[in-house]
Amino acid sequence: KLHNTILELKGNIRVFCRVRPLLPDDGGAEGAVISYPTSVESLGCGIDLIQTGQKYPFTFDKVFNHEASQQDVFVEISQLVQSALDGYKVCIFAYGQTGSGKTYTMMGRPETPEQKGLIPRSLEQIFQSSQSLQAQGWKYKMQASMLEIYNEAIRDLLSTNRSVGSDPTRPESAVSGKQYTIKHDANGNTYVSDLTIVDVSSITEISSLLRQAAQSRSVGRTQMNEQSSRSHMVFTLRISGINEGTEQQVQGVLNLIDLAGSERLSRSGATGDRLKETQAINKSLSCLSDVIFALAKKEDHVPFRNSKLTYLLQPCLGGDSKTLMFVNVSPDPTSVGESLCSLRFAARVN
Ligand code: ADP
Ligand code: MG
Repeated sequence: KLHNTILELKGNIRVFCRVRPLLPDDGGAEGAVISYPTSVESLGCGIDLIQTGQKYPFTFDKVFNHEASQQDVFVEISQLVQSALDGYKVCIFAYGQTGSGKTYTMMGRPETPEQKGLIPRSLEQIFQSSQSLQAQGWKYKMQASMLEIYNEAIRDLLSTNRSVGSDPTRPESAVSGKQYTIKHDANGNTYVSDLTIVDVSSITEISSLLRQAAQSRSVGRTQMNEQSSRSHMVFTLRISGINEGTEQQVQGVLNLIDLAGSERLSRSGATGDRLKETQAINKSLSCLSDVIFALAKKEDHVPFRNSKLTYLLQPCLGGDSKTLMFVNVSPDPTSVGESLCSLRFAARVN
């Protein structure tokens, strides 16, 4: 019930905050700097960040503290995921500095049931629901794709012919000759030329899809981990449904996006490729915030074309589509400056 109320009140954009637990590697557990509801059942919406004695309070649609499990989080988004089956276009973003829990929230550890993230849980729920809707005459076709945007260039994460060990910093087009250009079609949908599209019609296909996705990101491990924090990952599930009784048709899209790390990189040290990367990340994250801000304010001009990410997602942002932004925050006292920046970014789009 609360979920529906929020949907009605907030229009189409909501912001959830998730604070991850302290980890052994964090820079000192002394003096908690982030205070938030102590119980996930409290349905708390407030978070206070304390920096050098100054308190910065923030309010979001929901705040998950360090005790929130993957299931606790999924429960709060499952209706949003479900709406893609009803023909809505949905985008769920994870925003935050590197190490704040974006990938854990989105993908989690798919091999451990309790630690599965939003992507595997969403796929399973949509698949199960589509099966039970067959009784009412619905037939669904589902297709998945997964790409990465790095330095404003697109890489295919589900391509089967990527040579293992190839330089992950090299544009894939240089290896395969593929172009990966974003196209807008006559129906107002976007697609990416040459991108691998995978049919998802069984649990087995879902598992193999997730395996493949995990594999393609582990190529050249050290470099890739480094790079994965510097690129946006976009998982897209397209759902077409037709009711054989009523001939009603629906076309829904679910996009789950693990954004590049939002940390401010020192300008002084960055040169060459590193500087180019930094500029690309800063530009595309600020473009995203400009677009969401313009949509929330119902402005006439929405600057979708200013970045690859917003141009790709254009049909799924605005209109009657639904957007949810997770702002992931680390409780590590040494990250307090970045946490404040992330919370301010999220407060702007909220
Ligand atoms: P990011 O993708 O933002 O760089 P990660 O998702 O990789 O961050 O998280 C950093 C580390 O913290 C990982 O080791 C991850 O497993 C762990 N982690 C993140 N969120 C949680 C959580 N809610 N519970 C347990 N561990 C978490
Ligand atoms: Mg990550």
